[in-house]
Amino acid sequence: MNNMNIRIPFVDLNFQHQPIQAKLQQAIQSVLDVGDFVLGQALKDFEVAFAQASGTKYGIGVASGTDAIALGLQACNIGVDDEVIVPANTFVATLIGVLRAGAKPIIVDCDAETALIDLEAAAKVITPQTKAIIPVHLYGQMVSPLQLLEFADIHKLLIFEDAAQAHLAQRDGYRAGSVGIAAAFSFYPSKNLGAFGDGGMLLTADPDVAEKMLRLRNYGASYKYYHTEPGTNSRLDTLQAAVLLEKLPHLPKWNSDRLTIAQEYDTQLASLASRGIIPIHNQSGDGHVYHLYVVKIDESNGIERSLLQEKLTAAGIQSGIHYPIPCHLQPAFTNLGYKIGDFPHAEKQAKEILSLPMYPGLSRSQVKEVVAVIASTLSEQQELLVVSY
Ligand SMILES: *Cc1c(COP(=O)(O)O)cnc(C)c1O
Repeated sequence: MNNMNIRIPFVDLNFQHQPIQAKLQQAIQSVLDVGDFVLGQALKDFEVAFAQASGTKYGIGVASGTDAIALGLQACNIGVDDEVIVPANTFVATLIGVLRAGAKPIIVDCDAETALIDLEAAAKVITPQTKAIIPVHLYGQMVSPLQLLEFADIHKLLIFEDAAQAHLAQRDGYRAGSVGIAAAFSFYPSKNLGAFGDGGMLLTADPDVAEKMLRLRNYGASYKYYHTEPGTNSRLDTLQAAVLLEKLPHLPKWNSDRLTIAQEYDTQLASLASRGIIPIHNQSGDGHVYHLYVVKIDESNGIERSLLQEKLTAAGIQSGIHYPIPCHLQPAFTNLGYKIGDFPHAEKQAKEILSLPMYPGLSRSQVKEVVAVIASTLSEQQELLVVSY
């Protein structure tokens, strides 16, 4: 499909950037004027601002969300001989981060309704080597902080949040990034808060974790040319931080726009539930920041996901699948020893889910249009089914 045929894109960042374009250009120009491109003032300012907005103390900007996980786990002293519990249905970066820290990912299934990590399943895989759990606040919905804290307390585990999809999400009175020992965020352009390129951050309230993270991202240096450990080079560029600092004040409004759009989808889609279109369940109310709006398509109702996606494409509407292959079935992780059938909820979901267009600026009438195409495809398919009986 070429660009000219896209009527409703999956994501459109122009709605965020166009109204504040002059401010963004100014922010970039000030970095050019000063020239503090690496570890500059805008980075320090953004680290403070984002930690504060997220209800915690320290922010350490790094090159990507993946680095925030890999280096962040190391900063929490998690590594070789440690096991870390992760959900099967996450972006591969969660597992890559664990492996890069030298630890072993232990995969568990997700809940069938919310798609969030199943803590009962997690309790069953704990061994003396288990050091931490990574709750992924998937699609913008937090894993319940109260349940997580109770779980971690009973089993004496660390909580390391993967909050890459959940900037400023809230649940049980906590904000994403303030629940565990530390939390990883991504500023990939299409995330709820996105840079003009790659970026990431670790948040923590623990001064020791913060200090170790500062070293790890900067060649393991505790001060210039004195290196206490072999760290790496992973810093959030001052230019990216300047952009993010300019965008951060707008994030609450953008998130509430996402919530309004999700509520519009919920309303419009309600009548299609009995025909096999079920939105992923929102258990966290207004605290959900809807990085993605995801529905499940129950093919036993006679509608195929691939066909629905084709119909949407033909109508100029982009959609996505997050994610089509659960981590335990990815070739990259075969040596972890998992097989088909190990995590039935995650496997079923991977076959059923479809992400619909979602971004601040998507209009109510566009939501209606998306739902109308789904409804008409359902009617065609389900009529065919009736006729063929
Ligand atoms: C985007 C994402 C990451 C990785 O972030 P990058 O900045 O792309 O490295 C990790 N986990 C989840 C759940 C993500 O969505």
